[in-house]
Amino acid sequence: YETFGEDAVTVARDLEIVLTSKERGKGHRLPLAGVPIASLEANLAKLLAKGHRVAICEQFGDPRTTKGILERDIVRVVTPGTILEPDLLPGSANNFLAAALLDREAGLAGLAYIDITTSEFVTLQIAAEDLPAELRRLAPAELLVPNTTDDDASGLSPSDATSQTPLNPDLFEAIDARRRLLDHFGTVTLDAYGCERLPLATAAAGAVLAYLQETQRGALAQVQSLTTQTLDRVMRLDPGTVRTLEIFEGTAGGRVGSLLALLDLTQTPMGARLLRSWIGQPLLDIDEIRRRHDGVEWLLESGVRRTRLRATLDRVPDLERLVNRARSGVAYPRDLAALRRGLEALSDLRSDLYEVGSEDHPFAETLSSIDPHTEIVDLLRRAIADDPPATLGDGDVVRPGFSDELDHYRATSRDARDAIARMEADERRATGISSLKVGYSRVFGYYIEVTRSHLARVPEDYIRKQTVSNGERFFTTALKELEERIANAQERAAELESAIFRQLCRQVGDEGEAILASARAVARLDLLAAFAEVASRHRHVRPQIDETHDLEITGGRHPVVEGYLEEPFVPNDTRLTGDVPIGIITGPNMAGKSTYLRQVALIVLLAQIGAFVPAQSARVGLVDRIFTRAGLQDDILTGRSTFMVEMTETAFILNQATAGSLIVLDEIGRGTSTYDGLAIAWAVIEHIHNHPRLGARTLFATHYHELIELGESLPRAANYHVAASEEEGRVVFLRRVLPGGVDRSYGVHVAQLAGLPRDVIGRAREVLTRLEEGADRRPKGGIIAAGPSKLSSLDGQQPALFSLAPPPPPEPSPVEEELRRLAPDQMTPLEALAKLYDLQGMARQKDADAGDSPR
Ligand code: ATP
Repeated sequence: YETFGEDAVTVARDLEIVLTSKERGKGHRLPLAGVPIASLEANLAKLLAKGHRVAICEQFGDPRTTKGILERDIVRVVTPGTILEPDLLPGSANNFLAAALLDREAGLAGLAYIDITTSEFVTLQIAAEDLPAELRRLAPAELLVPNTTDDDASGLSPSDATSQTPLNPDLFEAIDARRRLLDHFGTVTLDAYGCERLPLATAAAGAVLAYLQETQRGALAQVQSLTTQTLDRVMRLDPGTVRTLEIFEGTAGGRVGSLLALLDLTQTPMGARLLRSWIGQPLLDIDEIRRRHDGVEWLLESGVRRTRLRATLDRVPDLERLVNRARSGVAYPRDLAALRRGLEALSDLRSDLYEVGSEDHPFAETLSSIDPHTEIVDLLRRAIADDPPATLGDGDVVRPGFSDELDHYRATSRDARDAIARMEADERRATGISSLKVGYSRVFGYYIEVTRSHLARVPEDYIRKQTVSNGERFFTTALKELEERIANAQERAAELESAIFRQLCRQVGDEGEAILASARAVARLDLLAAFAEVASRHRHVRPQIDETHDLEITGGRHPVVEGYLEEPFVPNDTRLTGDVPIGIITGPNMAGKSTYLRQVALIVLLAQIGAFVPAQSARVGLVDRIFTRAGLQDDILTGRSTFMVEMTETAFILNQATAGSLIVLDEIGRGTSTYDGLAIAWAVIEHIHNHPRLGARTLFATHYHELIELGESLPRAANYHVAASEEEGRVVFLRRVLPGGVDRSYGVHVAQLAGLPRDVIGRAREVLTRLEEGADRRPKGGIIAAGPSKLSSLDGQQPALFSLAPPPPPEPSPVEEELRRLAPDQMTPLEALAKLYDLQGMARQKDADAGDSPR
């Protein structure tokens, strides 16, 4: 593959290859850079990684029969979202190409996405505010957006890994998009695909199709269907929650330490991809959740059964991608061999499922959806060699006996080669030259070689071909004839073989949708088997799911943290019921509050994706949405401070949550001054508690011991603490969540454990003691008893917290005492006025005294 001009300069730089040049007219040279055909994939990967799109141009026709330049055409344009090369894609994740558009006035968005390697093509019409979370969930490799001058597309902020491609806005026109989809699918309405009445969903899908038609140059056999999805039946996970719960990525950024890594015991790439999709979309449909749990239970019941099935699943290759490679005409011989092995494994899977009997068995549908595809298997068995070469034209891809014609050409070429082999002995005998050799070279073809000393004995009919260092090479008419026969036969065989191969790919393609249906059933079986394997390895149990607003967990554990701890993980209970849905959790630093909060949220998430949960037992009233707010982090990119981010996320939660939600708040109000933070935390809990729409199950971890008062006074809230004790000046963490609040943070102890310098620790202890003494001397009935409405009046006192010498409680002034004694109801207006003058006089006198001798 060659590039010229500016392209050559770019390509040479980015691929780090030599930039040469080519003569173009007199004295004019054009820059040139090229890569060998065989290394196209590796170079494609590099170019894509550098943000380029690559148009691939091939030449057509037969160079021997064509005069002048061969016909050339672009066969495809490779972009991040349209990669077909299996080696450039991870098997465990989809490679999505997405298109999105916003209608701000209607508050709606259209979002369509496709994985052209697996044929999954989906479109959605959703609330505009849900778009960012959906984009994060999908993490498309490439996002198509209308190239408008106004800021319409600015709300689309996919992940960093997504490359954005602005397109002509006309491609997002709903009417044209509809037409384009109808033409492609050959239908007259989009009803079958569910988006006939959803203009934004149609527009997004139409844009994806237009882009594919452009980049794939019409070869879109794999785009056979479109599904319209809604978000009604799935739980939406906002990006903050995905991050906090470390669902796809651990704290370090990679998969390590994530829920995904824990659960990924799938055996097939289809199962691994399905896992990503399920984790990102917990269900709201109790029946489907129970169906998944039933499946896991059946596979957990018997280790033998599970091991047998997982061993067979391990033999199933990426059927989805293999079928699509065949359909889109980019398959290699080994792809068809792999497909054959995969389809053979399907028959074994069916046998492995022999225990599946009645129709209500959890895998009855799976069994009926996995087709053994006997005809295609039989065809591939007859047609493709056991272990075919990597590429066509390299040898025997098609098995002998499949095509008589092919066998004939192969025999012809073999016979001719045998004849040449026999020729050596015959010629030696005829000429008497014992060292005569018949050989073959790639450049010169077949020859008879005679060393110099025997040249005199060379017969007349030998024709000189080439001189070599120690002799001469010749050919004869007979040799030439045989050589031509071999070449012709080989050429015909190669042509025939590639025609047969293309035909086989077409036949696989005809069966494509059925194979994909089997592949989907395999994915589900694989994933449920992985859930069962996780449950067996990590002692997870089946959660009960119901329609209450309760959450009762006995002996719950954090699924990921428990695997990383050296000491045993301490299990804890949770009880949030419709009557008392709010838990306020206090406890020292490092006690395990955050871990506990996350574990509860993860147990709910696991339950609703259909997996078992790390607990002794769990009853989960269906949660419509999990909200989390944890940790402090600046959002420098959007210019929002730590506190602003915290408040924005809190506002989002309070506005979106319903009585069916689970809210997990870790340390709200830490980003500002103590009293501001406490006041906000206080008000947030009261809001969740009192708001008629809310009353959501809530866990609130805090260092503000003052909030314990809320747990005591609010009827639907309760206090919990994570226990710790102090032994010989050292804090001992018990990790037990117990009823009631605690009012010590052991922050200084933890600082000591962390290795803060000794003098800092010593001084901190001193300051802490003085602060605590000061706090004890402040007027009682302060923060806690005063209730939230009076909190703001305390703000003025805040500096006292830091002055270390709190002022003594103020004496009541004479004016105040006089006021207290008054009985206004028994005074005439005139007496009242006189008293007012008196009081004013007293107050002025006090000011004057104060001016003389300030306190
Ligand atoms: P801080 O208030 O400082 O944020 P925290 O109370 O939120 O602390 P975590 O971060 O949850 O504390 O936990 C601290 C460490 O304690 C964890 O990293 C983990 O190693 C350990 N831990 C937490 N929970 C448990 C548990 N149930 N059993 C055993 N170890 C635990």
